[in-house]
Amino acid sequence: MGTVGGGVTIEEVAPGVYRLPFAVGTKPLAMYVLAGDGLTLIDTGLTDTPEAIYLPAIAELGRRPDEVRLVLITHADADHIGGDRAARTLFPHALLACHAADARWVADPAVLSAERYDGFRPFGLRYDDETFATLDGWMFSGRPEPADLLFQGGERIRLAGDDWLDVVHVPGHTAGHLALHNPAGGYALIGDAVFGASQLDTGGAKAAAPPYVAVAPYRATVDRLAALGIGTLLTCHYPVMRGGEVGTFLAESRAWADRAEAAIEEALREAAAPLTLGEAIERTDPELGPFQNPRELQWALRAHLEQAAARGRARAVDHSGITAWVHAGA
Ligand SMILES: [Zn+2]
Repeated sequence: MGTVGGGVTIEEVAPGVYRLPFAVGTKPLAMYVLAGDGLTLIDTGLTDTPEAIYLPAIAELGRRPDEVRLVLITHADADHIGGDRAARTLFPHALLACHAADARWVADPAVLSAERYDGFRPFGLRYDDETFATLDGWMFSGRPEPADLLFQGGERIRLAGDDWLDVVHVPGHTAGHLALHNPAGGYALIGDAVFGASQLDTGGAKAAAPPYVAVAPYRATVDRLAALGIGTLLTCHYPVMRGGEVGTFLAESRAWADRAEAAIEEALREAAAPLTLGEAIERTDPELGPFQNPRELQWALRAHLEQAAARGRARAVDHSGITAWVHAGA
């Protein structure tokens, strides 16, 4: 397919489904246009993505911005909601949709930043100011941008004619992550629902750990996606996967969560003093990665430590003013 402004290549990855891959620094990112009787956009990327990526792509497809009727936000993260304000302006007929559980974060970048990205203070960790500034720069933070439609999963979106997409709730990375599944076409758009054994950089190297926030929902999501029998798996940060690659990726996602659980159990067992989240990262990174950015293990390891506590395998304690954990199992 064609190339649009900025060197973005448009690839038709399933009938009427166009993938627009680009990169933010060394982080690969892909947006999608579903071109049917109207246009549906999957995520809004960064502040300038609607203008820089979507507008030229829509023109290349021979369509018009006023044909965009739905903008589906897969989940509340800076690189997926940042262009919401611009999308409102550029696509005046579009309704903005997300899952109800992510609605507060989708609506307001300031709340997202405070509650999600700055949610590690109780555990003694905090991004530096530069990282917060980068994340803020990805999002239009001028005013709240609430969604028009809140999904729960189970809704259906018509692409064209009798071609329908099922909205699927796939929690784990966020509580309200959404995917779209087209059973007839055998494809699914899953955003950031699962991460294999690593987030990858544009060179394919292990950039950072799978960033899920809750273990049981993440595992259930992997199983649910596996049960769909997906032939073409479309994500926002990985190359298109087809056929056997899909099962391999899902198996790697499951296996990494199993390894992380075992690594946390071992770290708890071996710790001579209460285990902080920072120490858990240091102890497990060599085995679980190693990753270019070990710090991002904070998401999954917090989830595993909280799961261990919920199962009576660990006990949360106050350790010099921060929450740490001690082993509590047999
Ligand atoms: Zn993402």
